[in-house]
Amino acid sequence: MSILKQHRCPSRSLTHIPTSPRLHLVARLTCSATTTTTKPKSSQNQLVIEPRLETKPDSITPIIPSVGPPLSNDPSLQSTWSHRAWVASGCTTLFFSLAKTVTGAADTHMWFEPIVAGYVGYVLADLLSGVYHWGIDNYGDATTPIFGSQIEGFQGHHKWPWTITRRQFANNLHALARSITLTVLPIEILCNDPVIQGFVIVCAGCIMFSQQFHAWSHGTKSKLPPLVVALQDAGVLVSRSQHSAHHRPPYNSNYCIVSGVCNEFLDKNKVFEALEMIIFFKLGVRPRSWSEPGAEWIEEMDEAQSQVTVH
Ligand SMILES: [Zn+2]
Ligand SMILES: [Zn+2]
Repeated sequence: MSILKQHRCPSRSLTHIPTSPRLHLVARLTCSATTTTTKPKSSQNQLVIEPRLETKPDSITPIIPSVGPPLSNDPSLQSTWSHRAWVASGCTTLFFSLAKTVTGAADTHMWFEPIVAGYVGYVLADLLSGVYHWGIDNYGDATTPIFGSQIEGFQGHHKWPWTITRRQFANNLHALARSITLTVLPIEILCNDPVIQGFVIVCAGCIMFSQQFHAWSHGTKSKLPPLVVALQDAGVLVSRSQHSAHHRPPYNSNYCIVSGVCNEFLDKNKVFEALEMIIFFKLGVRPRSWSEPGAEWIEEMDEAQSQVTVH
């Protein structure tokens, strides 16, 4: 999605050093591997304390926004006819998938299974949104093929989170709508199973609208539709309070933006930290969240509207 260019997930503080014996060992190994060439070893204790705060350049380049936040009438926040066309095609695809699910369920007198499949799709969509968000927050840059604009956009989002609330609907959703159209349409044409269709419609629908759910999580309660606030408060949609934690130090939690139902499990079990360790030791690629954030990455307040980010 073409958010702005922003985002930078600062680092993990010392309190975020993995606490399990295995991961703690890894943290120590990381430290010794990265500091011996840059700092004298004055004592063993110092070596252990330094973990993720080393200033050695990462193997990925931080994306630093070079311009300020867009004004509310900035063309980059406006929807184009191309954006609207992709959102319309995505909604049409979802509508026909839903119709096919209902028709199939009615013909086979099978309602329970498609509903359960839909619930699984709802949970999976939240998980996938978290995995994707974690990936583009931490790896690659604006020059990365296919995902470059997404990475740049999410980097900018961390710098100026409030701008997502000023982005027009189709502008915010068109990239996901295009992906959903291109992936769901073949399934819709080839598959007649109402259970599979039930899973696909809910999962794809939640993914396509995840950026809208994300935008609402940055909204001010008094300005959001009452139904949206009720769904957020009920945990059906990602809540404002939960997503605000993603925009606070250490900037490495609460990545899921559909319902947020997976966030607690992922964060408590340090799933993403474990994946980062595996990627680092297998590929030598360091996630952005391991680097100490520079001032250029700290969220700027919206001067025009100080109640800005999430409440
Ligand atoms: Zn993020
Ligand atoms: Zn956000």
